[in-house]
Amino acid sequence: MAKECIVCGTQIRFIGTRIKDGELCVGCRGRLPLTVYQRKEEYDGERIRRIFEYFDERDAKDAQKGFLGIGGKKGPTEEERIESLRRYKELLDDGIITQEEFDAKKKQLLEL
Ligand SMILES: [Zn+2]
Repeated sequence: MAKECIVCGTQIRFIGTRIKDGELCVGCRGRLPLTVYQRKEEYDGERIRRIFEYFDERDAKDAQKGFLGIGGKKGPTEEERIESLRRYKELLDDGIITQEEFDAKKKQLLEL
């Protein structure tokens, strides 16, 4: 019986890592921050996908684009800013970013 990683869709050959609504492949499991790994059964695939998205964007060279929706000629809409902030709050709650990082993002997003 073939199973697929709920986050990246890779076929799981041996044993997957159980999370809330599915299983993770070895690669995805390896990317989980420790704070998430310890509570992985409380996380669903969508939430983990967002965490990875955050890492990908953070690693991206162009810090002005991507995760925050900043880039191009127009700035992010009010809605996008709120959505970004909500994601950051999640990351903060998950212990992936620090309070300082969150505050800085908040300030940046709300242009305080
Ligand atoms: Zn995967």
